Amino acid sequence: MSDVLRVQWTIIPRTAPQPWLACSRCGEAKPFRSSDKIRLNANGKRVDAWLIYKCTGCGSTWNRPILERRPVRSIEPGLLASLHSSESTLTRLLAFDVEGLRRCAGHVEEFDDVLVIKTVLSQSTTSLRRLEILCSVPEPVGLRLDRLLANELRLSRRRIQALAKAGELLALPRGSQLRRPVRNGLRLIVALKAGEDCCATSCDRHGAVDKTGLPV
Ligand SMILES: [Zn+2]
Repeated sequence: MSDVLRVQWTIIPRTAPQPWLACSRCGEAKPFRSSDKIRLNANGKRVDAWLIYKCTGCGSTWNRPILERRPVRSIEPGLLASLHSSESTLTRLLAFDVEGLRRCAGHVEEFDDVLVIKTVLSQSTTSLRRLEILCSVPEPVGLRLDRLLANELRLSRRRIQALAKAGELLALPRGSQLRRPVRNGLRLIVALKAGEDCCATSCDRHGAVDKTGLPV
């Protein structure tokens, strides 16, 4: 008999981070967006590659360095082919690599619009007393943990903070901050009192069920 509902939330960012750069044509700092195109320059035995960004105001381009003066032989052939063709999986990976972007751009704006795919890992077989959420975050997201929980559990952020303070919401590993962006491998444990918060925290008796089979 288990009174625990275990779910996995796979959190996929929808909007790639955008560097704010001084745009000479606009005459001020503007956010730049990835064009998902890679420029490759093979000069003898060395290769340079850039991901091309465009100013959201005027379309001016900025080349973000990806490879600099890299010997051709040191590049895995599959990667070289992907760079040549601006392969979409690679350009998405690069565009969402916020740490890499920060290294070559000053101010980087992150976004918190995400797609949350919910999968039931194991159902409760008795009355539900605990909800466990495993967060899978394949690419870094800027979304704060308390905002994610408020959105998905349909509670106010104040309520989320109160639950944490009362020890009814635990984020593991310990020390994980509700105000920090959600990270891969984070585990959340929400204690449910009988009746209270039931529907808001994915009750399969009262809540509607979405197409993944998880109550919403
Ligand atoms: Zn511009």
